[in-house]
Amino acid sequence: MYEKNYSSDGPAGAGKSTVSKIVAAKLGYTYIDTGAMYRAVALKSSRSCDDLIAIIDDINIELDDKARVFLDGEDVTTEIRTPEISKLASDVSKFGFVRKRLTELQRKMAERGSVIMDGRDIGTQVLPNADLKIFLTASLDERARRRFEELQAKGQAVNLDAIKKEIALRDKQDTEREIAPLKKAFDAILIDSTNLTIDEVAGKILTLCSTD
Ligand code: C5P
Repeated sequence: MYEKNYSSDGPAGAGKSTVSKIVAAKLGYTYIDTGAMYRAVALKSSRSCDDLIAIIDDINIELDDKARVFLDGEDVTTEIRTPEISKLASDVSKFGFVRKRLTELQRKMAERGSVIMDGRDIGTQVLPNADLKIFLTASLDERARRRFEELQAKGQAVNLDAIKKEIALRDKQDTEREIAPLKKAFDAILIDSTNLTIDEVAGKILTLCSTD
């Protein structure tokens, strides 16, 4: 069977991971969350005195089929989801040697079978020949609101304004960095999810998949 690669890029909070998981489950594809890999690098660097080059040289990151993230064999799925690690992930992701290593790992993952991979540079850098490219976005207010509700539902004490500022800063860093900035690939299909439900977005993508 011909293996398919789908990419899903866009800014934080646009709904990429939720929607990609639904699409992957429907199609029987593997979902790969590349943001989780940058977060794992950030977590390792926050725990270590070594410089980032040494950390990257000696890092083992694995994602399983339940979307769990393992850093050097340790399950760090929950630990990588704090605001501090979000910011640090954006900071470490600007370095070319970090991106090179993770891009290699991501391409190897994509070679194992059909995947839907989400991130910032999947359609532009990691899988430039992807069979279908989605660029999913939403207004800053809506992305902040969704993140606020998600964290509140987990019982965390959160502040909407602080979340909005954190996302705006990450948007700026991710779109303005020199190497592999967040950008819509010229051949990606833009979906604005501001006024759409998760199921509506997933439905749109599944329709596009069926015609690919
Ligand atoms: O997707 P998520 O919000 O978990 O990503 C965390 C950070 O990792 C992003 O803000 C971005 O700086 C970085 N990232 C990246 N390239 C990717 C995925 C994530 O630079 N493909």
